[in-house]
Amino acid sequence: MNDWLQRLVALESEVEYKSPPRRGEGEFCFQPGNLAVLISAPHGAAHTRHGRLKEEDDFTAGLARLCAELSGAHALYAWRKSSTDPNYYPDVPYKHALREIIRRYDIRFVLDLHGCAAYRDFGIALGSMRGESLPPDYRRLILKVLHHYGFRSGGGWLSRVDVDRTFTGGNGSRQETVTRFVSQCLGVAAVQIELNSYLRVVRRLPQASERDPFEGDPLMIERTIHLLVGLVRAVARYASIDGVIKGKPNKIVELD
Ligand SMILES: [Zn+2]
Repeated sequence: MNDWLQRLVALESEVEYKSPPRRGEGEFCFQPGNLAVLISAPHGAAHTRHGRLKEEDDFTAGLARLCAELSGAHALYAWRKSSTDPNYYPDVPYKHALREIIRRYDIRFVLDLHGCAAYRDFGIALGSMRGESLPPDYRRLILKVLHHYGFRSGGGWLSRVDVDRTFTGGNGSRQETVTRFVSQCLGVAAVQIELNSYLRVVRRLPQASERDPFEGDPLMIERTIHLLVGLVRAVARYASIDGVIKGKPNKIVELD
């Protein structure tokens, strides 16, 4: 197995999907980086909505950590069972941590990672609340980076990107998604990225909620890692350019 995938499995193995935090632990962890970008994985472990336990988006915590290590982004990820749902309820500890981290590290962009089922007819769903969660320049840049790594609206199954249709990042007014909270309450650009299981689950771990064995597509997982690292670098470079903050078009973003 490729080194990245081995590292991804090792990082994901530290997540205990259905165990509550032990004494002295939190439901989530923060891994500091050195760029003005945060990768968030609020469903890295099982979580609770309306009193019911919802299963984890497995390998999103591992991916957030690995891509943060490779790119220099910060990472905030759920790693123990949560008594709440950080992507649904307002005023929960995960959101308090987001607010504090964004302020302290002057974060300019949040990528909120989620996982969707293997049967979906796309590889990636991008949710920008139909353009409300980030300036148009960022949206264009993200679509350009996706295209660079072979993901596009007209692509075949796992290479296909669904833009603001299936998962918009702001699903109804009752749900305070991380994307909604970061963009509307904190005024920082954010986007939700839903990854098909084939793009993230190297192999389903024994502690997973889902019992059926599953193995993703190793080449597509590697491509997804390249994409996420590329996205972090592109938005970090973009955010650091003064002209962008003033709303001028940017001409010097290069893709690796
Ligand atoms: Zn999720």
